[in-house]
Amino acid sequence: MPNLNELWSKACEYIREEILSPVTYKTWIESIVPLKIDEDMLYISVPTEINKRMIEQRYLELIRNSVLEVTGRKYTIVVVLDSEKDNYVEQTKNPEKKDNGNTKYTFDNFIVGNSNRFAHAASLAVAESPGTAYNPIFIWGGVGLGKTHLMHAIENYINENQPKLKTLFVPAETFMVELINSMGKNTEDFRQKYRYVDALFVDDIHFIAGKVATEEEFFNTFNSLFEAGKQIILSSDRPPQEIPNLAERLSSRFSWGILCDIQPPDYETRVAILKQKAKDQNIEIDTEILMYIADNITMNIRELEGVFRTLSAYSGFVNTKITMEMAEDAIKKYHSIIAEKVITPTMIIDAVAKLYRIKEDEITSQRRTKELVVPRHISIYLCKNLTELSYNKIGEYFGGRDHTTIIHAIRKVESDLKTDERLKNDIDKLTQDLKRS
Ligand code: ADP
Ligand code: MG
Repeated sequence: MPNLNELWSKACEYIREEILSPVTYKTWIESIVPLKIDEDMLYISVPTEINKRMIEQRYLELIRNSVLEVTGRKYTIVVVLDSEKDNYVEQTKNPEKKDNGNTKYTFDNFIVGNSNRFAHAASLAVAESPGTAYNPIFIWGGVGLGKTHLMHAIENYINENQPKLKTLFVPAETFMVELINSMGKNTEDFRQKYRYVDALFVDDIHFIAGKVATEEEFFNTFNSLFEAGKQIILSSDRPPQEIPNLAERLSSRFSWGILCDIQPPDYETRVAILKQKAKDQNIEIDTEILMYIADNITMNIRELEGVFRTLSAYSGFVNTKITMEMAEDAIKKYHSIIAEKVITPTMIIDAVAKLYRIKEDEITSQRRTKELVVPRHISIYLCKNLTELSYNKIGEYFGGRDHTTIIHAIRKVESDLKTDERLKNDIDKLTQDLKRS
């Protein structure tokens, strides 16, 4: 295995040659920390959701090729958040080996509000009596709303109060990668690892949807644990029945125990969270300023924290108390980064295909069955609304259709939208997801 840091700094030299703007390089590439390399995966971590998004959308290919230049091998690049990197570096936890860095996510520092009260209560119940209260527990909700935090809280609680129980926490992606690596050689080790635990946590389980071999293995893992009365804790970005392409036998099992959702926090909860972060870090900041931040960042707690971090770093540099001007500045910066997000037709087609459970190339094909025409029209409509492309250009993405066909599709959706509530919901959801994910 090559030396990770050396490899990475060499790769960065190639990347730097390709990226012309120093600001771009500094913002997106310099903040990357190489985490780990194994046979065919290179894990890198980045500070925020926004960095992750940008890297995945724009720089993955470049990174892959630069690493290829250095090593002569094609690695799969996995981008993880700094806050979640411990899951990747150190995965198993034994009673003897408690602290893997995730102990910072506890029930104590989880602020409860209306948006997460139910999920919090259910999680605590599970933590108090793993395997018996609710099994499985399935926590779902949007990005950065506290799912992973709650899962770690459960795990930490169990480790603290019932240290003999063995817990295992993995992102779904890790489950898949380890499964693939074990195929044909040490499948038994893999099974031992996942089936002989008292509580298995799989974060972002929607990731395995449509990956048939992984679904199959997880199905068996699930049954084996469930029958043995072991606790299963899952999280996802939506409820089981709405995960596109998820095998029915899995989605039904995921609903056997308790389903709980986490919604975006209301204003009071956002202020409370910020107050606690300030207290945790011993930062002096007026409530008025916290209220201003909470007013401006509404959807996502991770981003709320991001702005707060920027601010506390900023005040550290200049060595003064945080002022309202600094807060305004940090928020402005945040909004301008968000605005940079580019939505492409491919992303739109991808999102629509997922929602309607059809293949991407069916959307752009010439087939005219109803199951395809509606998603196709929706995709075209979204391209008009969310990209800067001309009718002709949009037509090119949709199998070379001409601009009159494109205009017709858009008109059709616009007129249906007036009466079709379901259509409106779908389009709102797609728009929101595309703007955020
Ligand atoms: P998700 O897994 O839903 O994407 P995370 O659990 O990673 O979100 O949460 C994002 C960040 O927000 C974490 O740093 C977490 O500690 C913080 N957070 C989320 N909800 C709360 C809460 N209710 N109280 C305190 N911090 C929270
Ligand atoms: Mg998470």
